[in-house]
Amino acid sequence: MKIQIDGLEDERFKRPLQNIANLFFEETDIFLGQDSDADIKVEILLDIKENTVTVSVSLVKSGDSEVYRAAYSKEIEEGLSEKDFFTKVKNAVSHVYLSVLQNFTGIYQKWGVLTGVRPTKLMHKKVRMGIDRELAHSQLKEEYMLSDEKIELMQSIVDLQLKVIPDLYTLQDEVSIYIGIPFCPTKCAYCTFPAYAILGKQGRVDSFLSGLHYEMRETGKWLKERGIKITTVYFGGGTPTSITAEEMDLLYEEMHQSFPEVSSIREVTVEAGRPDTITPEKLEILKKWNIDRISINPQSYTNETLKAIGRHHSVEETIDKFHLARSMGMNNINMDLIIGLPGEGVSEFQHSLDETDKLMPESLTVHTLSFKRASEMTRNKEKYKVADRSETEQMMSLAENWTKQHQYAPYYLYRQKNILGNLENVGYSLENQESLYNIIIMEEVQTIIGIGCGAASKFIDPKTGHIQQFSNPKDPKSYNENFKEYTEKKIAILEELYPAQSTQK
Ligand code: SF4
Repeated sequence: MKIQIDGLEDERFKRPLQNIANLFFEETDIFLGQDSDADIKVEILLDIKENTVTVSVSLVKSGDSEVYRAAYSKEIEEGLSEKDFFTKVKNAVSHVYLSVLQNFTGIYQKWGVLTGVRPTKLMHKKVRMGIDRELAHSQLKEEYMLSDEKIELMQSIVDLQLKVIPDLYTLQDEVSIYIGIPFCPTKCAYCTFPAYAILGKQGRVDSFLSGLHYEMRETGKWLKERGIKITTVYFGGGTPTSITAEEMDLLYEEMHQSFPEVSSIREVTVEAGRPDTITPEKLEILKKWNIDRISINPQSYTNETLKAIGRHHSVEETIDKFHLARSMGMNNINMDLIIGLPGEGVSEFQHSLDETDKLMPESLTVHTLSFKRASEMTRNKEKYKVADRSETEQMMSLAENWTKQHQYAPYYLYRQKNILGNLENVGYSLENQESLYNIIIMEEVQTIIGIGCGAASKFIDPKTGHIQQFSNPKDPKSYNENFKEYTEKKIAILEELYPAQSTQK
C-alpha cells in the first residue's frame, strides 16, 4: 500500500506515520510529497499559532471521489525544548491521521496511536509523577487515543507489579542478569532468536560454554568488588536445557561461585521451552541448584501445528514432560501459548486452553503471532495461512476469559511490530507466581547485564534513567572469537554507571 502525504516536509514525521499505517495495512510505503502511483492520498494542514497546534486531514483513495476528513486542535505548554515541542506536534498529527484511517477502513485501534513495545511504562510514569488515577486515565485517553479496555488492562498490570515488587521504583542500584544459550534441537519457523541446531556440534558447544563461564566469572567478580546485588537471573536462548545435564550442572555451580550473594537473588529462571530437551537427569540438576522457575512451552496442543512450525516434538511429549517436572518437584512452571499459529483458529486455540486446564501451570504467557522480519515464516509468508483480525481478536478474548475464570491475573505485557490484529503478548499468573524478571525487563527499571550468545544488555543509568543498549555477537563462532573483548566493553560501561565511590557500602 503506497500512501502519499502532502503538507508535511519534515522527514521526522515519516516513521510515526508509517508505523500507524502499518496497523491498518500490510507493508505500507509512505511518501512525503508527490507520488503518482499512490493508492491513498492524504493531505495534512498543520497550523501552529502561538501555543495551539491545529491539524486537519483529508484522505482520498485513488480512483475514488469520497473524501474522509478529521481535525484536531491542542494547546501546547510554553517553554518546551525544540525536541519536546516537535513531539507534541507529532502526537497531534498522529491523532488526526489515526482518526481518518479508522474512518476510512472501519478498523478501530484499541491501542490508539501507540505503536511502542511497552505501553505499561506510560502508566508507571504517571504513577511515579503522583498523578491521580482518574486524571492519568483521561490523559492517556486524550494523548494516545487509548480505549478504556486497554487503559484498564494497563492499570491492573501496574497495580499487580507494584504489589509483587513493592520496591520496583528503587531497584536501580541492583542489576539482573540474562544468560543466553544459543542452541535448540531444531529451529522453529517463527523464530528470530539466536538458536542453532545443537546436534553434532559438540565442539562448538564446548567453546561457547568456556566463553560463557569466563563472562560469568568476570561479571561476578566486578559485581562482588562493587558490592552490587543481583535481583534476578534468567537463563534464556535458544533453549538452555539443550546442553547436557553435566554442562548445566557446571554452569549453575559457576553461578554460585562467581555471582555475589546468590542466596539473596530473588528469582532464578531457566527456560526449558522445548519439551524434547527435558530429561529426568536435567530436572535433578535444576532441583539440586534450587532453580525457582522453569518454562515448558507447548505453543499449541495440535500436533499438525507443531509440525508445520518445525518444533519436532509432540503434544503428548509436552504433557508427559510437564508431569515429569511436577513429579520431580518443579512447582513454578510457566507455559507459553501462541495465538494465530498457521492453520489455527478459534477451535484449535480453545483446545489448547482446554488442555491447559488439565495442567494448570503457575503462569501462562499468551503470545500473539508476529511476523518478525528475519524468520522463515516471514520469508515464505504465502506458505503459512493465518487467522484474520477478527478471529485473532476472538482468540484473545478466549484467553482473557479463560484466565479470569481460572484465577490467573495479567502481570506484564508487551507489543511487537507486525503482530497479528495489532494485539499484544500478555503474561498471566496465579497469585504470587509472577516472574519478577519479566516485570523488570518490561518496565526497564534496572540494568540487565546480558551474558552469552546474542544476549542483549540494557544499561540503565541509576541517576538519570538513560538507557544504553549493548549486544553480544549472535552466532557462536563470533562469540567464541570475541567474548573477552565484549566482556571488557560491558565492564567499562558498568564502571561509568556505577563508579566505585558511590556504590561502596
Ligand atoms: S525453541 Fe524458542 S529459541 Fe528455539 S528455535 Fe524455537 S522459538 Fe527459537
